[in-house]
Amino acid sequence: MLIGGIEAGGTKMVCAIGETDGSLETEVKIVDRIFVPTKSPEETLPEMIQYFQKWDIQTLGIGCFGPVDLNRNSATYGCITKTPKPGWAYCDIAGAFTNALQIPVGFDTDVNGAILGEVVWGAAKGCESAIYITVGTGIGVGVYCNGKLVHGLVHPEGGHILLERHPGDHFKGNCPFHANCAEGLAAGPAIEKRWGKPAIELADKQEVWEMEAFYLAQAIANYVLCYSPQKIVLWGGVMHQKQLFAMVREKVKKILNGYVDHEMLDAQIDQYIVAPALGENPGILGAMCLGMLESTVYKGLHRVGI
Ligand code: ADP
Ligand code: ZN
Repeated sequence: MLIGGIEAGGTKMVCAIGETDGSLETEVKIVDRIFVPTKSPEETLPEMIQYFQKWDIQTLGIGCFGPVDLNRNSATYGCITKTPKPGWAYCDIAGAFTNALQIPVGFDTDVNGAILGEVVWGAAKGCESAIYITVGTGIGVGVYCNGKLVHGLVHPEGGHILLERHPGDHFKGNCPFHANCAEGLAAGPAIEKRWGKPAIELADKQEVWEMEAFYLAQAIANYVLCYSPQKIVLWGGVMHQKQLFAMVREKVKKILNGYVDHEMLDAQIDQYIVAPALGENPGILGAMCLGMLESTVYKGLHRVGI
């Protein structure tokens, strides 16, 4: 059986087709994938719809950049909500695919999709609670708690958690909403603005990564205290600086200072804060998983008002 997945990003839309036996026991095999640049919805959505119409897919999942409306009782369920991205505010992205393809469409944030993929097939397999943190153009946190993806008033926005400043950091921050949030201090664009060069060109500058780990470790320590995840999957463009993993683990240990008493935060911390096991694919596989759950658990009924 074929299924579709979309990783909807502010720069590009990844659209892919997966092959599955329909069970969550076996990992979906990606059989085709395209990248569509994110222009206006009027240009981008028809191109994506045309792609999926060429395949006989039974279900589709979308992991979407946010903020999004995940409340199934809301009139704007399935929409991107208040985004500065021209044309996309209140775009009914899930509805566009449901109407065009007439199949169940699963919908969640990109990071919730990614943690779902990692829980079902990847590094957090079997966990009841786990989080996925992406450190890229922004910082996003997908939260899976007690066997469910966390939604709420809106959805968690862990990237905007407030942090204590590094004593040597005089950068004013890069978030228009908060002076001291994780995204504004530690996402890729913040690194670039603070140090005057793209993060990838700063690989050999120890002080850059010390400061980066100082911020990421604070955020992670707070997520540990609030969500008590059994696994933390850490990824995004900035984490391609692999040296950060060891630095972050060490600093998380130091910040928590033995208070959370578990071997995962001590001897086994290198198995606790990890890179995804799904390589570069947690987002797209997670999106497909959202689609599979939608067809089995929800059967798409909310869209037709039943
Ligand atoms: P997005 O968050 O838009 O999905 P990415 O996860 O690829 O995209 O993140 C892009 C950010 O990651 C950019 O700010 C870029 O500077 C940074 N980045 C990409 N590759 C590297 C690298 N090898 N080392 C450090 N930073 C990187
Ligand atoms: Zn912020």
